[in-house]
Amino acid sequence: MSKKKLHPHTEMIRLQSERSQNREHSVPLYLTSSFTFESAAQMEGMFKEEIKGNIYSRYSNPNVSEFVQKICTLEGAENGFATTTGMSAVFNSIAALLSQGDHIVSTNAIFGSTHQILKQVLPRFGITHTYVKSDEPDTWEAAIQPNTKMFLCETPSNPGLRIVDLKKAGELCKAHNLILNVDNCFATPIIQQPIKFGANIVTHSATKFIDGQGRILGGVIAGDAELIEKVIFFARHTGPIISAFNAWLLSKSLETLPLRMEKHCFNAKTLAERLVGNKCLNQVLYPELASFKQREIALQQMSKGGALVSIDLKGGIEAGVTFMNNIEMCSLSSNLGDSRTIVTHPATSTHSKLSKEERSAAGITDGMIRISVGLEYIDDIYDDIEQALAKCR
Ligand SMILES: *Cc1c(COP(=O)(O)O)cnc(C)c1O
Repeated sequence: MSKKKLHPHTEMIRLQSERSQNREHSVPLYLTSSFTFESAAQMEGMFKEEIKGNIYSRYSNPNVSEFVQKICTLEGAENGFATTTGMSAVFNSIAALLSQGDHIVSTNAIFGSTHQILKQVLPRFGITHTYVKSDEPDTWEAAIQPNTKMFLCETPSNPGLRIVDLKKAGELCKAHNLILNVDNCFATPIIQQPIKFGANIVTHSATKFIDGQGRILGGVIAGDAELIEKVIFFARHTGPIISAFNAWLLSKSLETLPLRMEKHCFNAKTLAERLVGNKCLNQVLYPELASFKQREIALQQMSKGGALVSIDLKGGIEAGVTFMNNIEMCSLSSNLGDSRTIVTHPATSTHSKLSKEERSAAGITDGMIRISVGLEYIDDIYDDIEQALAKCR
């Protein structure tokens, strides 16, 4: 091979576990719980971690390592670890790194289960948190306490598409020696690489765009080598590693992620532009729209607007329900990041357990519909959304 520096997308696509004696082109699936040793000395060396190699699939597996390496290539991360689900990635990225008495500053527009971890789980282990507003970076510093160890955020947020200024977050964390932990699920590493802005840890729900076809659950943590070392120790003994099969599938899926994101983003942007001015809507939220409040920050850190469009129906809850009931082609589901367009009405589903006040604090209105724009032909997506909106008049 020549020494030519490859683009990270090329490097990711060409990256593969070492070929076996069968000279396969596509990587085999290593469905094995353990690995064998050639001698007692090799076994001892691997257990002492003096020789690198697979021992047991709770620690590592070739399919998992390949998937992790591809993510690290895209994120520009030193090392990583893949988990059963996105929530497992979020939880392990906190539990492996913080201890009793530590404090987290978290932006308030975060995934529902992340909120439950902060509110219900971590306090039992003596880890507390303070919320700050995702879109008010000038207020973040005041929330830092002497025992603050981590700044946790998600950008763009689900489903309100609040943007966290990653450059400001990176500078703040550097000045106060905090771990910057970013949930990069919505943007994917194709559109946004938080490590460039100073993130120390990035997490993903691989269930979403990384799988991209709504088949499996998975998660991944990538970041600074010394932090990932701690994550690996914690995970090795607590057991959240992703299965070989899911890692194999996700590694294959990654090869088409750059291509899929291009089309997802094109469809989402086109849909958002066509919906602007629709009589049934108060608002269309999409980072690339001229009307998007945080457009400048979004485009500073994202190469494209992403695949999620949120619309706010004028008729509140009732209009949201009418809209959902009149959808003909798109799927009614709570998932996102699928090749098929999915519509969700957070007020009556994913966020129905929150009070109206709690929802509005997270930027969710009664008439908000989250559209995870898929890969179908754009006119068909638009036509379905438009005809369902017309019924809400
Ligand atoms: C879905 C999601 C998660 C959780 O991922 P799972 O794979 O469902 O556990 C975390 N963060 C964000 C932003 C998500 O959209």
